[in-house]
Amino acid sequence: MNISEIFGVNVFSVSVMKERLPKKVFAEVTDVMENGGQISMATADVVANAMKDWAVEKGATHYTHWFQPLTGSTAEKHDSFITYPKDGKTLLQLSGKQLIMGEPDASSFPSGGLRATSYARGYTAWDITSPAFVKESGCGVILCIPTVFISYTGEALDKKTPLLRSMEALSTQAIRIVRLFGNTTAKKVTAFVGPEQEYFLVDREKYLKRKDLVYAGRTLFGAPAPKGQELDDHYFGQIRERIGAYMKDLDIELWKLGITATTQHNEVAPAQHELAPIYSTANVAVDQNQLTMETMKRVATRHGLVCLLNEKPYAGINGSGKHNNWSIGTDEGENLFEPGDDPIHNLQFLLVLSCVLAAVDDHADLLRESAADVGNDHRLGAQEAPPAIISIFLGDQLDEVVSQILKGSENAATTESDLNTGVSTVPVLRKDATDRNRTSPFAFTGNKFEFRMVGSHDSIASPNTALNAVLAEAFCNAADALEGAEDFESACKAYIRESISKHKRIIFNGDGYSDAWVEEAARRGLPNIKSMVDAIPVLVQDDVVDMYEKFNVFTRAELASRVEVQYETYAKTINIEANAMIHMASKAYIPAVVAYSGDLANTVAALEAVDADASVQKELLSQVNALLKQASAALADLECKLPQVNSMDSMGAMAHAFHDTIVPCMAALRAPIDQLELLVDQDVWPMYSYGDLLFEV
Ligand code: ADP
Ligand code: MG
Repeated sequence: MNISEIFGVNVFSVSVMKERLPKKVFAEVTDVMENGGQISMATADVVANAMKDWAVEKGATHYTHWFQPLTGSTAEKHDSFITYPKDGKTLLQLSGKQLIMGEPDASSFPSGGLRATSYARGYTAWDITSPAFVKESGCGVILCIPTVFISYTGEALDKKTPLLRSMEALSTQAIRIVRLFGNTTAKKVTAFVGPEQEYFLVDREKYLKRKDLVYAGRTLFGAPAPKGQELDDHYFGQIRERIGAYMKDLDIELWKLGITATTQHNEVAPAQHELAPIYSTANVAVDQNQLTMETMKRVATRHGLVCLLNEKPYAGINGSGKHNNWSIGTDEGENLFEPGDDPIHNLQFLLVLSCVLAAVDDHADLLRESAADVGNDHRLGAQEAPPAIISIFLGDQLDEVVSQILKGSENAATTESDLNTGVSTVPVLRKDATDRNRTSPFAFTGNKFEFRMVGSHDSIASPNTALNAVLAEAFCNAADALEGAEDFESACKAYIRESISKHKRIIFNGDGYSDAWVEEAARRGLPNIKSMVDAIPVLVQDDVVDMYEKFNVFTRAELASRVEVQYETYAKTINIEANAMIHMASKAYIPAVVAYSGDLANTVAALEAVDADASVQKELLSQVNALLKQASAALADLECKLPQVNSMDSMGAMAHAFHDTIVPCMAALRAPIDQLELLVDQDVWPMYSYGDLLFEV
């Protein structure tokens, strides 16, 4: 296979536009893509027609405005290119207006009270900065036009609108920073993102028989398998044939969509894998990550597999997350997070670094919130993913730079050095200036920051919106203080030193999984927000609202609506999980155990009738009976509390009640059933075991 022949074939890319659009139209479109602004309706008509012709050649019959509502996934409504027939014939059409704007019925998407159901109008509007593409699926070939989704009154109803706003805010403020250092030519600064995506694969036939996986996307019951991940033999391990075939197919599908899937490997847990693309602009990365997740699921079906993106499919072994690699760069190709060979004398880098420290320290709680997601509650702080406490890992080199600055000296810091393996035939390697720290939620990795808290199935729009906005604010503060300074260099150095000493508590290079860090972080006054429900209200905290409003990323009303939507998401998700547990316990587990204990009782009676020793059977029966009783009581308790919690009026109170009351009830039901799984004859156990799911893929 020749990758370059298939790469991007399904994308209406800049090069396709260049080929197919008249020169003037192409120039207008690329100018708007790069510099913002509006295209004329006449231009839109030409682009739409070219896009339609291209898509029809690819076999497309329909087009859709493809958007990202607050459900966290993507939405599409297909319209065919057909026009009213004339003389029995139809013309295929896509007008400029259809390209630019759509009007889905907004009332069926979550809006968190922004829009009463009676005011259902919502609009989708073309995002010219993310390329259109055709998607091949069971419905045939569909032309997908990436769009934002807003209400009749212009409020964001999606994840993309605030992201695009945050990118503009960051660009405006970052340009002020580079101007301070004499750059008069850069026109914009863009956020770049490379998301590493973790996922699990499970055999589809087994999956279909596990109703918890079907309804909740994760197992709600299941005793540990005899083997877990303790041998560390899966990480980077040999990829099995079936999985390899899946990965190959997945790559091809992603490449066709112009997604630069580049790295693939086995992850820590059995049946867990990772895929990473090459980074791109934040908005394209967000769109492509959604498409990647969708394609992962679709391709899995072809291989008799199911792709699980839930953050915690299995208890007791690592769950899945997403590492959000983030950097910012000018349109001239300068990466503002690049320290260069001599960071201590790179004043612009130091100012940028001090702004990142300030931004993350000032809004640690917001960043934590941006990664909050129902499944992620199981990972953060559970020794497998970063703790829920935000801190920054700088590594040896920058740590030394920071301490020099605080001391007021400027000695050059450690840079790359040679690494000698002690084997004469192995070349001497250049070692990075900084080791890795896997336990940090926010790690500097050479010329980018890696935000490691994000959940595996969550959109990366929210974290990147927050990152861009908080940095825009820090840049704005720095520019306000330094623009017009008489002696810029000394003012800048003083600003950097002051900012670093104010925010140094956010730097932590040690073991983020340790209990000692939890205590130390508390002493430093760093927030430790343990659950999603506790993180949500941060969105409407005064400092957050002020920051977002100042930089036109969110209005107060939009933030309030997101709070409602998130509470609702939490409550509904846990409700589904609880209901799935009730179904499984009452229709599968308890009947199986009842039947098994009946058989045991019969065996005991039969043995005793012939005066044989029945002590082992009796002992087993009494253990099984005790656990059955415990399970049945826990089931009754959950069944009783669920309707009470569901009848609460306020979404916030309901979400908290789900967290405080229902989640513990679920754990109380799971415990005896998992113990029973290890006691009851496996031939009568009604569910596939963890071993079956994890090791027989
Ligand atoms: P690592 O394995 O060290 O975490 P990789 O180089 O494999 O790093 O990169 C992980 C992800 O980070 C990839 O998606 C990669 O494209 C992305 N990445 C690399 N450089 C940058 C950058 N400057 N900005 C944003 N993302 C980047
Ligand atoms: Mg990484």
